[in-house]
Amino acid sequence: MTQPTGTTRVLILGGSLAGTLAAAALAPHVSEVLVLERERVLPETPVPRPRLPQAAHAHMLWAGGADAIEELLPGTTDRWLKAGAHRIPIPNGMVSFAPAGWFRRWTETHYLIGASRDLVDWGVRAAVLQIPNIRMRTGATVISLVGNASKVSGVRVQDKDGQESVIDADLVIDATGRGSKILQWLGEIGGPVVEETVVDAGVRYASRRYRAPEGTETNWPVIHIQADPREGRPGQVVSIIPIEDGQWHISLSGTRGGEPSADEALFEEFARGVRHPLAAEFLARAEPVSDVVVYGRTANRQRRFEKAAMPAGFVVLGDAATSLNPVYGHGMSAAALGAVALRDTAAKMPVTSAKFATRAQKAVARPATAAWLLAVGQDRFYPGAVTKAPTLGDKLAARYVQRLSRTAIGNFLVVKALTDVMTMKKPASVLAGPAVLFAATRGLRRPLLEGPDLTERERSVLDREPLVRAEKSRTV
Ligand SMILES: Cc1cc2nc3c(=O)[nH]c(=O)nc-3n(C[C@H](O)[C@H](O)[C@H](O)COP(=O)(O)OP(=O)(O)OC[C@H]3O[C@@H](n4cnc5c(N)ncnc54)[C@H](O)[C@@H]3O)c2cc1C
Repeated sequence: MTQPTGTTRVLILGGSLAGTLAAAALAPHVSEVLVLERERVLPETPVPRPRLPQAAHAHMLWAGGADAIEELLPGTTDRWLKAGAHRIPIPNGMVSFAPAGWFRRWTETHYLIGASRDLVDWGVRAAVLQIPNIRMRTGATVISLVGNASKVSGVRVQDKDGQESVIDADLVIDATGRGSKILQWLGEIGGPVVEETVVDAGVRYASRRYRAPEGTETNWPVIHIQADPREGRPGQVVSIIPIEDGQWHISLSGTRGGEPSADEALFEEFARGVRHPLAAEFLARAEPVSDVVVYGRTANRQRRFEKAAMPAGFVVLGDAATSLNPVYGHGMSAAALGAVALRDTAAKMPVTSAKFATRAQKAVARPATAAWLLAVGQDRFYPGAVTKAPTLGDKLAARYVQRLSRTAIGNFLVVKALTDVMTMKKPASVLAGPAVLFAATRGLRRPLLEGPDLTERERSVLDREPLVRAEKSRTV
């Protein structure tokens, strides 16, 4: 551990997942961490807050992200589970319809956490606020950076009464999320122009919570009906994620031209119209307990701060640097792995060192880039997502992943490798290892499944009568 020298102050802009994890990552290496969050009050229980609209949508936390959080804040997984979250084994706890067909439910190799986003954040925040040298100031909106092209020395903040002040720091971390104004702020202090790439499949989300049918409140799988970018129609996805309070969180999503509606009466109709109606069959037997909420800011956006001549004393983390199409469920895990990378850099050199920000930005970019490549590898095939047609290389890479995904249905070694990558436990390079290449060449070891691989208990829910709905479709 690099021991704090003098009074080293780190300012973290944004007190959501990336911000709180960055605070936990740096606290052992500095004397003071101050988190600035524009939300007026952060809840003390796992409930929604206004400045986190995406929390109304299902959030899967893959093992790679959950393990990273546990590494930074030991005991967090227990806190989530005690509050009702589920530890869902993968691949056996997932009924997934991929482009090539139904996945087998092989023995557990990985897991994910099934919980609302509010519960995930609460578990992290509660742990972070117990660390003595971390403070959180709410109602504090950062309005600009202070410094110049060579060095950031602080930020200008507006409090809830409109009063402005400057706070100095040795290191500033931007974790203000997808809506970050960082490119503008950098421009204002004469900072570099940062390369930005956008791949936008025009995905819109519609989400709703249901009470799980009686007897399915625990040990229930994730139901995931995936899209197929090569089908030549908009990609439509349904996910049912078991969360706390005996509920299922359902998110529908559709790319440009196939977006789900905010109309409650059309929610299950959309679920029935995707590539397989299994999720709709389960929903027909469950009771909605929330409104339908929609969300449309889902473009993949990558800002290459690690390639720019950035001012010293400044690092960008989480969605502010790389925001991803949420369908792949990687944003939180990439942020958590980025925070671990920040901690590891701080363990090697003082955060006040001239090279710290450059090194940290490069380290933080690695997991984010891995998630970016997975997302755009699929999304660039949807109409209107990119201005240039996919290259031969893009097409070959996509075809290899497609072949692996098909082989995975009948080959444990390949499903394990794909799950390593999907859960962010290992980099995508494992898919190019000799054993996986050989397996891909040989193809399926077992036949494709004709239908979903359901247990007797799961199947018995489908034998129940569908519930009668009060909501009438606008279309009839
Ligand atoms: C519909 C949807 C579904 C998703 N599903 C998944 C999923 O299944 N799995 C997954 O891993 N990820 C998912 N994500 C992605 C995930 O939500 C983000 O990756 C994650 O929230 C990034 O965290 P962050 O801390 O970088 O940003 P955010 O969580 O957006 O937080 C930014 C914080 O900064 C604060 N802030 C903003 N501006 C200022 C300012 N000027 N001054 C002070 N504070 C400020 C905000 O109030 C907020 O608290 C989903 C996203 C969406 C949109």
